[in-house]
Amino acid sequence: LSAAERVFLVLDTKPDIVEKENAAQLVEFKEKIEFKEVEFSYVPGEKVLNKVNFEIKKGEIFAVVGPSGAGKSTAADLLARFYDADEGSVLIDGVDIKDMSFKSLRGLIGMVTQETILFNDTIKNNISYGHPGDDETKIIEAAKAANAHEFIVRQKDGYDTLIGDRGVRLSGGQRQRLAIARALMKNPPILILDEATSALDSESEILVQEALNNLMKNRTTFVIAHRLSTVRNADKIIVIEGGEIKEKGTHDELIGAGGLYKKLYDMQFKLSDKGA
Ligand code: ATP
Repeated sequence: LSAAERVFLVLDTKPDIVEKENAAQLVEFKEKIEFKEVEFSYVPGEKVLNKVNFEIKKGEIFAVVGPSGAGKSTAADLLARFYDADEGSVLIDGVDIKDMSFKSLRGLIGMVTQETILFNDTIKNNISYGHPGDDETKIIEAAKAANAHEFIVRQKDGYDTLIGDRGVRLSGGQRQRLAIARALMKNPPILILDEATSALDSESEILVQEALNNLMKNRTTFVIAHRLSTVRNADKIIVIEGGEIKEKGTHDELIGAGGLYKKLYDMQFKLSDKGA
C-alpha cells in the first residue's frame, strides 16, 4: 500500500509546464534561435541565469562553456522547455516557445546528454525508441553513422541483444554511441548536446567524436562543450559564469582576449583533449 501511495503521488503530479490552448505548430526550423533577457531561478531569490542574451543562426555550432554550476545545463533545459524562463523569452524563428505545442517544439529538438536513458530492451528497440515500426535498414544506417554497428554485430544476438537495466551490459562509450544513433534516427534540425566529461579511453573517444561529427552535420547545434575540438570548430562560443554571459566570440578571439575563456582553456580543454 505504501508503494502504491508513492506511485499515485507521482501519477497525480500536475506538471508546472503546460501547453497553451491553440498552441502554434512549427513544423520546420528556418532561421534562428534567440534567448532574450532570459532570467531563471530554481529557488526564488537565487538567480541561476541573469539577463542572458544570445542568437544561434541556422546551421551554426554554438558552444557554451563555463565553470561547474555556471548555468549551462539550465540554459539547455530552457531551450527544450523543461522549465519556463521567469523573465525574458526563448524564441525559435521569432515564435516564443511558450506559444508552441510540445509536440512541434520537441519534434524540432534532439538531445544527447551525459545521462543516456536506455531501457532494458533490445539494442534495436533502444535505437528506434519513439519511432516504432521503423524498418531495420534505417536502424542499421543510424548505428553505422554512430560508429555503433561494429560492436552491435559482435554481441551475442546482434541488434536483438538485451542490454540490461540502463544499459549496464555496455561500456560508457557504447552507451553514448547508442544515444547518438537514436538522435540520428530522429533526425531533428536542432541538436542539444551535452558532451561527456568522463574520460573514455582514446580509441573509444575517437569513435564517439566521429559519431558526434556525423550527428552535427547539417544541423544547428547547442553544445555544452568539454572538448577542445568542439570549441575550435564552433562558430560562436559563449562563456557563462554565475549565470551571466561574460564573453562571446570564436576560439581564436577569446584566446586573444586573454580572459575567463583563456583561463578555462588552460585548465580544462588542454588537459581533456591533448590529442586534438
Ligand atoms: P556543470 O558543468 O557542473 O554541469 P552547469 O553549468 O551545467 O554545471 P547547472 O546544472 O545549470 O550548471 O546549474 C546551475 C546552478 O543551478 C547550480 O548552482 C546548481 O546547483 C543549481 N541547480 C541545478 N539544477 C537545480 C535544481 N533542479 N534545483 C535547484 N537548483 C538547481
